[in-house]
Amino acid sequence: MEGNRRWVTNELQHPDRDPTRRELLATGQQPYAAVLSCIDSRVPPELVFDTGLGDLFVMRSGGTALGPVVTGSVEYGPMTSGTPLIVVLGHQRCGAVAAAYKALRDDEPLPGNLQAITHALRPAYEQAVRERSADPIETMARAQVKLTANALRGNRDLAPLVAKGDLAVVSAYYSLDTGQVEILNGAPA
Ligand SMILES: [Zn+2]
Repeated sequence: MEGNRRWVTNELQHPDRDPTRRELLATGQQPYAAVLSCIDSRVPPELVFDTGLGDLFVMRSGGTALGPVVTGSVEYGPMTSGTPLIVVLGHQRCGAVAAAYKALRDDEPLPGNLQAITHALRPAYEQAVRERSADPIETMARAQVKLTANALRGNRDLAPLVAKGDLAVVSAYYSLDTGQVEILNGAPA
């Protein structure tokens, strides 16, 4: 979050991006967080948190949709090397969420494998519909990261780590307008 403040205020430090850091990491890594974010070109985690080499595991999928490979990739750090934090990062005006919303509302499947994203986002769509929000796509985008974080936090492999206090799974939301990351749920007390 300190790195995100630097991003918002244009006080970037570009930490851990030099040959010394590269050499230090050549034979091992110990990132302090795993970030699951959207594929959107405007939300690269390393930039919006002002991080460098070896700081983050990063997995990206359309609308942070989960599936076995995505989930396994997010679990890798926490399960094998004690990474203490997972951040599920959604964002404003998410094209994947908007496309899935329209596909579900109109019952018109997206072409090819894109429909797998629609399928993964159905619970968030249903929550947005239940809430009767004035901006259902925005509501769905926020619901999607909260539900995704909840699913990871409660799954068979990660729940024991969370129960022991060794792992936090946080949902967060990125504003394209301001660059600011807002924590939605799951932050440790
Ligand atoms: Zn997106």
